[in-house]
Amino acid sequence: MASAGLEKTTRDRAELGDFLGLQPGMLGLLVAGLYLVLFMVVTGWIMARALDLYQARAETAVIDLALGLASQIDVEAHERLQEDAQTRSPDYMRQLAPLERMHLVMHEVRGVYTKRIGADGDMVYVLDTAQSDIPALRDRASAITRVGERVLMDTIEPGMVIALLAGEPWLDRQSFLEGGITLRGVYVPLRDHAGRVVGTLGMDFEEAEFAALTRRVFADLAVPAVGVLLVLSSLLGAAVWLLRKHLGEILDVLREETIKDSLTGLFNRRHFEQRLEHHVPSAIDTKRSLSLAILDIDRFKSINDALGHAGGDRVLIMVASALQQHTRSEDIVCRIGGEEFGVIMPGTDSAQALVVQSRVADAIRRPLDEHGGVGLALSVSIGIATLDPEHELATDLMGRADRALYRAKRAGRDRCELAEPASGGVA
Ligand code: GH3
Ligand code: MG
Ligand code: MG
Repeated sequence: MASAGLEKTTRDRAELGDFLGLQPGMLGLLVAGLYLVLFMVVTGWIMARALDLYQARAETAVIDLALGLASQIDVEAHERLQEDAQTRSPDYMRQLAPLERMHLVMHEVRGVYTKRIGADGDMVYVLDTAQSDIPALRDRASAITRVGERVLMDTIEPGMVIALLAGEPWLDRQSFLEGGITLRGVYVPLRDHAGRVVGTLGMDFEEAEFAALTRRVFADLAVPAVGVLLVLSSLLGAAVWLLRKHLGEILDVLREETIKDSLTGLFNRRHFEQRLEHHVPSAIDTKRSLSLAILDIDRFKSINDALGHAGGDRVLIMVASALQQHTRSEDIVCRIGGEEFGVIMPGTDSAQALVVQSRVADAIRRPLDEHGGVGLALSVSIGIATLDPEHELATDLMGRADRALYRAKRAGRDRCELAEPASGGVA
């Protein structure tokens, strides 16, 4: 049973492979390849979305950090810092303190500073953690600026001042190199009491740290995402497999329906013809003998008349089961007409076929009086032909078996007749 299922699955695959014009075995490879590509595309897509999401979150977090710091600055006092001479003055250091704290806590931060923005959009530096008394902060800074030093406008991205004046935070789209370190800056507006933008607070982040952090979070996301995808795709695979199995079972039933006779459960004429077309060339190729028997119930019309159509059907079922009982599993037993049966017997010569069919005839032969048909007897006439591999095809073999059956009928019924040799063969 299992091997039959396996054979069928293999045949189905071969048929699909043929249909797609693929070499045997390539279909499995193609399906596995498609599955892998699909898996990678979906995984890649999810990863890209996760990365976008993370980067957006990271940027928001950095801007929030800068906004928080900006809110700690006393803007009026900040406005009063005008000249380089004020650098390191107690007022300067007091205002620098929150920036220093931030710089110390955040390892990624390479500089925290403020700039005053003039009415014409010109900018000058005010506070800078590189001016700190804390050596670590001076060492970590990539550049040192002074109060009142002008910002070189070609060092900032176009649009940055406009965004700040409009009250929007700004995050450098492109990194820049300073002191051999790749940096990205975030800038948030500083407002006076009237809400006017008078300056900006900036923080430079080391791009490598930023990227490393992103990668770390990405890896944290990637592992569970791949795991979830694997589980999902396995579930999907299992669902497809179950569906295919279920459909396979339905197809098996349907296939069975198309080759079976509904009354007797034997194979039908269609299957008989297909099998004969298959077995004749295969017997010729393998040099195995092949015999065919055609059986016809004698005077079935009278049986029907005596027992009624339903009674006749029961007799047909009886004959069918006798045929199945007295033939080998390799033999193909079919109902090929109303009360006519065909048995294909691979590997069977005429003497063996005659023995088998005589046994079948003996098993079927019985009086039918107990069914109400007084004087009625059940018997069959059988014509047997054995393939002449040199001289015939399936239709010729069938013709000879039919003629042998006709002779059995004419000779008085209830008998087996061996067919005459194939025309062209030696008698
Ligand atoms: P012979 O010995 O020459 O074969 O005589 P016969 O009466 O058996 O031959 P014939 O071919 O004249 O009759 C066959 C009958 O089988 C006719 C038909 O009504 C009957 N028959 C065909 N199919 C069925 C069926 O499915 N059920 C029943 N009960 N009868 C059927
Ligand atoms: Mg008949
Ligand atoms: Mg008949």
